[in-house]
Amino acid sequence: MRFDVVTIFPAMFGPAFQQGVIGRAIERGLIELQAHDLREHTHDRHRQVDDMPFGGGPGMVLKPEPVIEAVESIRTKNAGPVILMEPWGERLDQNLAAELAAEPGLVIVCGRYEGIDDRVRAALQAREISIGDYVLTGGEIPAMVLVDAVARLIPGVVGDPGSLAQDSFADELTGWPQFTRPAEYRGMTVPDVLLSGDHARIKQWRRQQAAQRRVPRGKELKKT
Ligand code: SAM
Repeated sequence: MRFDVVTIFPAMFGPAFQQGVIGRAIERGLIELQAHDLREHTHDRHRQVDDMPFGGGPGMVLKPEPVIEAVESIRTKNAGPVILMEPWGERLDQNLAAELAAEPGLVIVCGRYEGIDDRVRAALQAREISIGDYVLTGGEIPAMVLVDAVARLIPGVVGDPGSLAQDSFADELTGWPQFTRPAEYRGMTVPDVLLSGDHARIKQWRRQQAAQRRVPRGKELKKT
């Protein structure tokens, strides 16, 4: 799967994805990630990507031409949906991550300032995605969150597929408390049941624990 990200800060993406599971998946060619500098798609001397909002108000808005031209230049390599990271967009959850993992690629545009000129949305038939109801300074960190959540669902990226099956949100009763050695640390012990070797009891205990600690979010999660 291929991820192309349009941003004014492409250098942010290198270090973020050099290590860990995603870094290895890139090395192994399971996923490809390329960050594209929005300024490369400007035509003026100052490489201006933003301008004042029509109608007045504070801040600046990302201009439509560089964003649209940047995405058009990527289109030959990536046929996946175009996604604009926006705080008011559709909320990213595990179901949406699974839906997007089935795409051949994603073209992700990171906003800055007061956001992206609204004509971009229609011109690129883009989908807006939010990583939560709070406002960050730019779309780069949200784009990284999206790439990470989607990439780890691509077959082979996470070494043991069993890890995905027991993830939080994989079904309604996963995400139980985990412990590792030592069995006792500063008087804090591991629940006896986990040391019992009784797999039926362990399974039952985990389901109970997961059910207890699930925080209601007011939205039903579908099985993925
Ligand atoms: N006044 C704008 C608003 O409330 O929508 C704030 C724009 S924010 C300062 C600049 C950019 O950061 C956005 O265009 C978007 O790309 C990104 N961003 C900020 N918070 C985000 C979130 N929760 N999810 C996705 N993108 C976000």
